[in-house]
Amino acid sequence: MANSNDPIIYWFRQDLRLSDLPGLSAAAATGRPVIPCYILDPESAGRWAPGGASRWWLHHSLAALQAAIAEHGGGLLLYRGDTRAILEYLAESTGASSIFCSRAYEPWAAQLERSLHDTLPEGVELRRFAGSLLFEPEQIANQSGQPFKVFTPFWKACLRKEDPRSPVAAPSGGVFADIPAPRPPAADARSLDGLELLPVSPNWAAGWESLWQPGEAGAAQRLETFLTEGLGDYADGRNHPAMDVTSRLSPHIHHGEISPRQIWHRVCDGRRPQEQVNKFLSELGWREFSYHLLHHFPDIPEKAFKEQFADFPWVGNRAHLKAWQRGQTGYPIVDAGMRELWQTGYMHNRVRMVVASFLTKHLLLPWQAGEEWFWDCLVDADLASNGCSWQWVAGSGADAAPYFRIFNPTTQGEKFDKQGEYVRRWVPELAALPDKHLHEPAAAPEAVLREAGVTLGQDYPHPLVDHKAARQAALDAYDSIKKAS
Ligand code: FAD
Repeated sequence: MANSNDPIIYWFRQDLRLSDLPGLSAAAATGRPVIPCYILDPESAGRWAPGGASRWWLHHSLAALQAAIAEHGGGLLLYRGDTRAILEYLAESTGASSIFCSRAYEPWAAQLERSLHDTLPEGVELRRFAGSLLFEPEQIANQSGQPFKVFTPFWKACLRKEDPRSPVAAPSGGVFADIPAPRPPAADARSLDGLELLPVSPNWAAGWESLWQPGEAGAAQRLETFLTEGLGDYADGRNHPAMDVTSRLSPHIHHGEISPRQIWHRVCDGRRPQEQVNKFLSELGWREFSYHLLHHFPDIPEKAFKEQFADFPWVGNRAHLKAWQRGQTGYPIVDAGMRELWQTGYMHNRVRMVVASFLTKHLLLPWQAGEEWFWDCLVDADLASNGCSWQWVAGSGADAAPYFRIFNPTTQGEKFDKQGEYVRRWVPELAALPDKHLHEPAAAPEAVLREAGVTLGQDYPHPLVDHKAARQAALDAYDSIKKAS
C-alpha cells in the first residue's frame, strides 16, 4: 500500500478549484508530492459527454486551474482518452500509489469509479471524497429509509441535519512542487488547445469572454456581486428575467469552481435578510434534490419517472423543433429565451420553464428533445438538474408540475416581463411595438404593426401554433395516458 513518500495523483473532475476541495486537502496533508491531472474521456461519458457550450466553459476553466496550479509551483497534466488506462500509466510512470478525487454522481461516472476500484493494479488505491454537494444522497432518507420523491420533505430533512461543515482554504503553496514528470510521456498527453474543446468554425462563442469568467476567481467574484447586488431582491426578483438578480453561479457550481458549502457559509453569515437567504438556499436545495433523484433513479435523464408517461403520444415534428431551437416560434417570450440561450449559453430560470412547457405542451415534442438541446447549448448543462427540471416541467418527473398546468406564453410574458425589456433585448425586430402588443404581435392591429416596422411572416413569424388549440390538444393527449393507466 501507500509508501510515505510516494506521490499522490489528484484526479480533477467536476471540481475545478483548489479551495474547499476535501480530496486535495487530504492529499496535501500527507506531505507527499501531489500530481494534478485532468482527463477528458468523452467515450466513458457516452451521450452525456459535455456539449458544445460546456466544452467552451471547460476550456477556460481548465486554463484558470492551470494558472492557479502554476502559482503553487506545479503543472496540470492534461490527457484525452481512456481514464483507467491513463491513471494506470500515470501511477506506473511516477511511482504514485494513491489516486485521490472527488466523487461524481452521473451514472456513467459512478460506474467508472466502481470499475477503477475493481481494476486498478494492486498497490494503487483510489480514494473518493465528497465535495460537490451539501448532503450526500445516502445521508438523506425518509422515515422508511427510502429516497424522497417530493421536494419539500426532502429539503426539510436536509435542514434538520447539522449545517454543512465549514469550507477549508486551498492548500498552502508548494503542494504541487517537485513532482516527478511521468516517463515516458503518454501518447494521450495534450496541451489545453490539444483537447480541442473550443468551437472552430463557426465560432458561436465569440464574445463570451466578456459575459463569463470561468474559473475559481470568477466564481468567487460572481458570488460577491450577487450578495451585494442581487440577494436583497432575490425572492421576488428571481421571477423577472430582465432583472439581473439571480446569482448566475450555475456554470461555476456545475464545474466545481465553487462548492455549495462555500456558498452556504458565505450567504449564512448573519448579515443578510433571512427571507431572501432561505429562498436562495432552497434553490440550492433543488440542486441537491436533483442529485438525490439521479443517484437513486439513474434512468431519470432518459426515461419518464412516472411510468404512465412512457406511452405519451408525442408528436415528432422536426420543423417545429427547429423553429423552437432558433427562437422562431412567433411567441416573443419563448423566442427571447431561446435566443438568449444560443447567444450566451444561459437562460433565465423562469424562461427555461416557459420554453420547456411550450415544447412539451404546445408542440407536443418529447422532453428529451429539449433536454438534448439544452445539453448542447447551456454552459451550466448538468445531467441531474437538466434531466429533473425537464421532467418537472413535462409533468413526468418526481414532484412535477401537473401536466395540465400549461403556461400561456403570452400571459407569462405580460406578467414577468411587463415592460418588455427582456423581449426587446433578445427579439429586437419587435422593439418598436408598444408594451401592450409586444407579447402577442399576432393580435396587434395592422396599423400598430406597420408603425413598428413589423410585417408578420417576414420580420417575425406568425405563431407556430394557436395557443387555445394547442392547449386543448395537450390536454387530450394527457387524457389518453390517464385513461390508459
Ligand atoms: P439562482 O437562482 O441564483 O440559484 C442558485 C443555484 O441554485 C443555481 O446556480 C443552481 O445551481 C441551483 N438551482 C436553482 N434553481 C434550480 C433548479 N430549479 N433545479 C436545480 N438547481 C437549481 N440548472 C443547472 O444548473 N443546469 C441545467 O442543466 C439546468 N437545466 C434546466 C432545464 C430546465 C428545463 C429548467 C426549467 C431548469 C433548469 N435548471 C438547470 C435550473 C435553473 O434554471 C438554473 O439552475 C438557474 O436558472 C441558474 O441560474 P442562477 O445560477 O442564476 O440561479
